[in-house]
Amino acid sequence: MPSYAFYQNKIIPLEDAKIGIMTHCIHYGTAIFEGIRGNWNDDKKQTYIFRLKEHFERLQRGCHVLNIVLHHSIKDLCEKTVELVRKCAFQEDVYIRPVAYTSSHALGVRLHGLEHDFFMFVIPWGPYLDVEKARCCVSSWHRPEDNVIPPQIKAAGIYINNALAKTEAVNAGFDEAIMLSPDGHISEGSGENIFLVIDGKLVTPASYNNILIGITRNTVIELAEKELGIETFHRAIDRSEIYTADECFMTGTAAHVTPVSEVDNRVIGNGEIGKITAELQKLYVRVIRGEYPKYMHWCTPVYGK
Ligand code: PMP
Repeated sequence: MPSYAFYQNKIIPLEDAKIGIMTHCIHYGTAIFEGIRGNWNDDKKQTYIFRLKEHFERLQRGCHVLNIVLHHSIKDLCEKTVELVRKCAFQEDVYIRPVAYTSSHALGVRLHGLEHDFFMFVIPWGPYLDVEKARCCVSSWHRPEDNVIPPQIKAAGIYINNALAKTEAVNAGFDEAIMLSPDGHISEGSGENIFLVIDGKLVTPASYNNILIGITRNTVIELAEKELGIETFHRAIDRSEIYTADECFMTGTAAHVTPVSEVDNRVIGNGEIGKITAELQKLYVRVIRGEYPKYMHWCTPVYGK
């Protein structure tokens, strides 16, 4: 099935969407991107795009930090996304990748005096971590300080840090890396936020622990509070607290809610998916597939009315 891209204001076949080798962002990583999921509901023959507006709001904040001018309003971007996903017509889970970038064919490290453009494309994409439970290690690569590269924005260039950590972990036989903040506290996975369950409460690194503020993180916090009556503490977490936590899981648009069974060869809990993790995972899957009426405001249907 062919895929399509929104490129230079038009929907065109993905294979025809090409950028030149002098494009500024390729050389310096000066782009802001997003990862958005469209979740296929086979009973309703519908794709629900999850928290579309929130993803573009984060994109817009990132553009502001990098002085990238977005030529589209958030409303316009949301409409274009629905149109593009509908055109692709995949009957499976999809992943939408919008990118706002410095498009000038110009060399020179800077953010000023450049042109900007935006594209996005859609591909079918199933589970990201592709494991029922993840074995993780703490990475030797730390997250950068906000005054090195702001980790709260999804800037392309920062992902060198994540890629170093991910490949180090996979080469060492693990599924995913857990990175520490520069001051040695738990920060996040290479593409996921991290949660612990301690004494029946959720604990997750705070914004000052050099994390990306995940939309799945926010979703899980809200579901835990509203549906399970479980409070979340946002605070600095010591490395050894993970080893002794009752449960641990990761969250992300690509990874959904993935239980962590082991960290640094220490088994977490009994090594199986924890009770609270399982409840949150079940809720989350229903919510993103448009099966939970209370949270339909987070789901944008692609087909028909
Ligand atoms: N941290 C990093 C570094 C990420 O790349 C992602 C994926 N966007 C996340 C956390 C999770 O964010 P979200 O739930 O918004 O996908």
